[in-house]
Parts: sequence; C-alpha cells; structure tokens
Amino acid sequence: MGKDIYVLIEHLRGQVMDISYVMLAAARPMAAATGGQVVALLLGSGAQSLANDLAADRVLYMDSPAFADFTSEAYQRALTGVLQTGSPRAAIFGDTSIGGEVAGWLAAHLGLPLVSACRRVEPENGSLRFVSQICGGKIMAEGVLPEPTALVTMVPGGFKPEQGRAPQAPPVEIIPAPALGDLRMTVKGYFEPAAGDVDIAKERVLVSVGRGIQNRDNIELAEELAKALGGVVCGSRPVVDQEWLPMTRLVGKSGKTVKPKLYLALGISGAPEHVEAVADSEMIIAVNSDADAPIYNLARYGAQVDVLELMPVLTEKVQQAK
Ligand SMILES: Cc1cc2nc3c(=O)[nH]c(=O)nc-3n(C[C@H](O)[C@H](O)[C@H](O)COP(=O)(O)OP(=O)(O)OC[C@H]3O[C@@H](n4cnc5c(N)ncnc54)[C@H](O)[C@@H]3O)c2cc1C
Repeated sequence: MGKDIYVLIEHLRGQVMDISYVMLAAARPMAAATGGQVVALLLGSGAQSLANDLAADRVLYMDSPAFADFTSEAYQRALTGVLQTGSPRAAIFGDTSIGGEVAGWLAAHLGLPLVSACRRVEPENGSLRFVSQICGGKIMAEGVLPEPTALVTMVPGGFKPEQGRAPQAPPVEIIPAPALGDLRMTVKGYFEPAAGDVDIAKERVLVSVGRGIQNRDNIELAEELAKALGGVVCGSRPVVDQEWLPMTRLVGKSGKTVKPKLYLALGISGAPEHVEAVADSEMIIAVNSDADAPIYNLARYGAQVDVLELMPVLTEKVQQAK
C-alpha cells in the first residue's frame, strides 16, 4: 500500500489559492502517520515558481500550455497517470469548483473511493479517520479512510493557510505531461465583477446577511449597522439571487473570498460554499436563531437571537459607544 499523501495545488492567474496551503497543512500529520511524504502536484504553464513556498516534501511539476488556465478535462487526463503510477495512500483536493470537478471524475474513472467535504483527516490506531461535513455542513460524518488509496476533498477551517507555507522551496521533480489529445474545453476569458462598487475582499469590517434577514426591506437595518461599524454590507447567495444585494457583494464559492478583521454573519447558516470564502477572517461573529447552525463551528463568538431584533439595538449601542 502506498504511503504518500498527494495534494493537488490549486492556482489561478499566477496565485496559489489558500485552500492549497490548508491541504498541505492537513496532509502533514497524515504523512507522519503513514510514514510517507507530502507530495504536491502542480500543473501549470511556466508556473514552476509557484512551488517555492509549498510545505511539501517534494513537488511533482507538469508543464504544458494546456495547463495555462484550469480546465477539468486537462487536469483529469494528466492526473490519471500520476495517481496510477504513484498509488498514494490518499490524494487531497480542495472542496472547491476546481477540486470537486477533478476529484469526482478521477474517482469514477479510476474506481477509487472519494470522501468529500472533509474538515479533518487524522491518524487513529494505524488508520486515517476523517470528519466530513455533509448536508451543507449540518451533519458531521466520521469514518475510516478506505484503503489502499482514497480521494478526499477538503473544506477550509481545519488549518490556517500559514501552516502550509514553507520558508524554503521544496525539491521539484519535473515530470513530462502526457499526450492530452484533443481537448474539448478551453478558457475564453474570466468574468470580472462590475466596476464601481466597493471591493468586499479589501474591506476590514463586513456585515454579511443571509436568508435569515427575510426580506429586501431589512437590508436597510444591516446598512445602518455597517455604517455605525465603519464597514459594508455583503451577503450569501440566496440574498444575491433574490437581488436584494448586487453580485459584487456575494461572499462564497461563486462570489468573493474575504479576509476582514471582523465578519459579522447575520442569519447565515454556514454552508460549505459560503464558509470556504470566510474562513480566513480574523474574527467571525455569528448571529443565528438556530443553535445547531454550522456557522457556529467557525465563529469565535455567537448569539442565538433574532437578527431583526438585534440589528437596531446593536446599531444604537455602537453609535452610543462612539
Ligand atoms: C455550486 C454552488 C455554489 C454556491 N456558491 C455559493 C456562494 O458563493 N455563496 C453562498 O453564500 N452560497 C453559495 N451556494 C449556496 C449554499 O449552498 C447555501 O445554500 C447558501 O450559502 C445558504 O445561504 P444562507 O445561509 O443565507 O441561507 P440558509 O441556509 O437558508 O440559512 C439561513 C439561516 O438563517 C437563520 N435564521 C432565519 N431567520 C433568522 C432570524 N430571524 N434571526 C437569526 N437567524 C435566522 C436560520 O436558522 C438559518 O441558519 C452555492 C451552492 C452551490 C451548489
């Protein structure tokens, strides 16, 4: 049985995504338990320098113009051979649009088990035990990672990205890209958020509203609170889908990743697609009427109260304190 733990490095437009460092940090105790190495898989076009701060024992780098932009098709074809040859104990992918597409296809194509939305995978009595957030994060499923090789997708929150960064560049082994044949997918361009609005990714205080805000009129209560706190309002997908807030204010997998000093989550359940984009906030405070809402797994502080009752009172208190 293979011992190494593979990690697929996600990068976009010349930048390694934080989830890659989180996965490398998660892989370290796994490799220590199996007696293997943490092996980063980096696919790119002229992107070898992205390996420089990866906390891996070694990096397998594959270069091809087909990897200049991510397409699941090119990645799937290239990684098939890598997994077959290397037979790792586990291969970790982000529980992201990129990782989900690649891992799902590889699992089906190679007949390998896939455990998705893992928050942790830890050594236990000679095996690896996973904790997976299923049903939108409402249920924590635990089990033993199947042998000999299992694929894992990982949600953020279990480790900080800094734990997956190394001060020194790891050894890089360049492996030839396989013949990729006729690829049917190409990237034609990136959709940029409309200009003219604030960039929530750069804001220090975010008052974020979810479906719990109940209707468009209540957005005003959040605006007043944000103004008092010196921040801006953003929201979860249902709020943007109903056009209570513009797309530029969407936080999450389909929106922006944010890292404010304060993230105030009001009436947000904490689905994986949302929390993956807020996990690196300095402080998360959640307000939710449901004591079991998954957002409380991530929040430093929480209040189980009605947001609609709380917001005006909080705004007044902040104004008075000023
Ligand atoms: C491919 C894909 C991409 C996605 N991308 C995103 C994304 O980018 N961003 C995103 O946010 N979601 C995204 N989603 C959707 C995501 O799965 C969740 O459905 C969404 O995050 C839920 O939003 P919510 O927490 O506002 O709503 P809900 O899950 O409905 O939660 C509402 C919460 O409000 C609480 N509540 C209700 N009333 C009150 C009250 N009066 N006071 C206090 N609390 C109250 C409830 O207890 C509940 O926890 C995506 C889903 C998919 C499949």
